[in-house]
Amino acid sequence: MIIAIDGPSAAGKGTLSRRIASEYGFHHLDTGLTYRATAKALLDAGLPLDDEGIAARTAQALDLADLDRSVLARHEIGEAASKVAVMPAVRRALVEAQRAFSQKEPGTVLDGRDIGTVVCPDAAVKLYVTAAPEIRAQRRYDEILAGGGKADFGAIFEDVKRRDDRDMGRADSPLKPAEDAHLLDTSEMDIEAAFRAAKSIIDAALSRHA
Ligand code: C5P
Repeated sequence: MIIAIDGPSAAGKGTLSRRIASEYGFHHLDTGLTYRATAKALLDAGLPLDDEGIAARTAQALDLADLDRSVLARHEIGEAASKVAVMPAVRRALVEAQRAFSQKEPGTVLDGRDIGTVVCPDAAVKLYVTAAPEIRAQRRYDEILAGGGKADFGAIFEDVKRRDDRDMGRADSPLKPAEDAHLLDTSEMDIEAAFRAAKSIIDAALSRHA
């Protein structure tokens, strides 16, 4: 049983995916972390981000058990991740590991950009979680301030749009909703409302599946 959750950055899909996985007792993989870990390994080793062969070998050497959100959360790593994510050989290596993970019992929740379209096209339920770019930027801004940091709203907004363009515009596995995905626009929802909406979609799909 696979639940695929896709959407642009800062749409709330990470928090939502973790809640859903815990609700159904499923394993969860944030596939963004696999791209982030690849980028961080390259940066740490002083290797280029745009050499496809080196980046693919780095991706193949990743161990999903080592992914640590707190280490990979940094903004620069997300930016670098979206650069390595345009390379088909990197994607092939990471998608293979993601597919292997998706087969775990009793079920899995994978979130990312291409789960419903490429990684798990046969997923039992597909959600496409989105929100208006200004709202996503505002949420990220609030999060940084709440954590005691300083932020520039304009810079964050530009960043959200740049990341959307890169993720939606790339040739290999661009971000887009699968044809059979349920769209969930969280612009006017808090996490609780988004969770309830997702749960009712998932429960309906699961009862059809049973
Ligand atoms: O979701 P997160 O911000 O951690 O993802 C970082 C980057 O990794 C994204 O901007 C995207 O370029 C890439 N990514 C991807 N496919 C996925 C997950 C993430 O291309 N399934």
